[in-house]
Amino acid sequence: MNILLATSEAVPFAKTGGLADVCGALPREVAQLGHQAAVIMPAYRQTRYCGQKIVPLGIDFIVPVGSKMVAGHLLQSNLPNADVPVYLVQQDQYFDRDELYGSEGKDYIDNCERFVFFCRAVMEAIRLLELKLDVIHCNDWQTGLIPAYLKIEYQHRPGYQGLGSLMTIHNISYQGQFWHWDMLLTGLDWKYFNWHQMEFHGKLNLLKTGLVFADSISTVSPRYAQEIQSSPLGCGLEGVLQHRRDVLHGILNGTDNGDWNPATDPHIAANYDINTVWEKKPICKAALQREMGLPEAPRTPLIGFIGRLTDQKGLDLIAEVIQRWVQTTDAQWVILGTGQPKYHRLLETLAERFPHRVAVHLGFSDPLAHRIEAGADMFLMPSRYEPCGLSQLYSLKYGTVPVVRATGGLADTITGLHETGASSPPNGFSFQEYSAIALAETLNQACQAYHQPDVWRQLVTTGMSQDWSWARSAKQYVELYALTAQRARQASGQAGA
Ligand code: ADP
Repeated sequence: MNILLATSEAVPFAKTGGLADVCGALPREVAQLGHQAAVIMPAYRQTRYCGQKIVPLGIDFIVPVGSKMVAGHLLQSNLPNADVPVYLVQQDQYFDRDELYGSEGKDYIDNCERFVFFCRAVMEAIRLLELKLDVIHCNDWQTGLIPAYLKIEYQHRPGYQGLGSLMTIHNISYQGQFWHWDMLLTGLDWKYFNWHQMEFHGKLNLLKTGLVFADSISTVSPRYAQEIQSSPLGCGLEGVLQHRRDVLHGILNGTDNGDWNPATDPHIAANYDINTVWEKKPICKAALQREMGLPEAPRTPLIGFIGRLTDQKGLDLIAEVIQRWVQTTDAQWVILGTGQPKYHRLLETLAERFPHRVAVHLGFSDPLAHRIEAGADMFLMPSRYEPCGLSQLYSLKYGTVPVVRATGGLADTITGLHETGASSPPNGFSFQEYSAIALAETLNQACQAYHQPDVWRQLVTTGMSQDWSWARSAKQYVELYALTAQRARQASGQAGA
């Protein structure tokens, strides 16, 4: 198969969250299975400092964006240690900015225009680069117009016939909704602006567009694929997804064994594996306590959290539990994140009030994220919803026991110690009800288990010996690519008949 993955971020070129991890890892695994894979994404300012060599291809193009004709250039790089080209779409007015999507908590006002341009550029790049593709794999709303351009404008042109499109939802609450006049920017006929296709409650909705026009749809865990077919987790798109449920698939994300491996991780105080974890993890814990200004206390449970500080991630529960719990238990907390200002203020206040118990780093730091995964005893993810979640998978690999709310990919990957009737052995703790009481009870259970060495040893060993690598999921994607190509051929045969 020959696959082009279109994305707005991929490690190591640009990252704001899990999407970048997926798009940096999956194509490499697909290539290792013997297929051709390439990535296409915007060339942002931060892309220049990614450490990978980037060369101009000397290929310039010009595409319509509304009434303007906008020029761009193609650059080329490679995924590290892999035979996977990464094509970078350069258009400095759109992409040479401080951030990817917005600054100071506000989206850039021309985001629709920026990603209309990107989607049109991807369609042209396929021709200019003479890629003989089977499937174009689109990711999230930023690429939602690609399946529409393919079906409406390109599918009968030479080089695009029989090309299939897969639309993957990484988080359905981000849909790329814009006011209706932005329909003009897309260059598509107003007849598509109806509630069956591109319109959503009077607005242009780019994710919905992708879901309607793609040959196949996937999301990042089987549980989330079910959850988004009804309200509230479908975020208004549940009807579209029910309608298309025959082509909707759930494939779990995997972990990148190169980037996230305690045996080789360059960021942590001591490297370890399943045989040396009991000897070396305490060194990582002590180093983390020192770095974060917490007392070095080897037998005190250390709870870690890394993530976007948003309502999705259960920050309201965490804040409530810390305030109530911190007086009555001896646990320490290390929190790394950036996000909504109200959570910044709340966490800063907690760190000031309880300096020996709560340490907070507000910002984005990949090395610190690695040190927390290695140094914490437990990793907390009390999410309201979680499409897949990667951090709990990293935690399992690092021998850090996840404490999660049973939703989406967290439910698919974490089996609670006290869960009844589970088909896999326990590897963490989980609770159902979204409440601070449920979280506090579960943390109590986790802290009790932490002081029972046999129980804890079993949990850590189970987690570390599980395989959540991309190899397994990549095989499922390859099968889905084949199915997508077949669906596209059938659809174009029907269209031509
Ligand atoms: P999401 O994609 O919803 O943000 P995931 O759990 O799928 O959540 O992926 C989050 C990824 O982003 C993980 O690799 C995590 O380590 C990383 N991450 C999130 N916030 C930060 C931060 N403040 N500093 C460093 N890494 C972060």
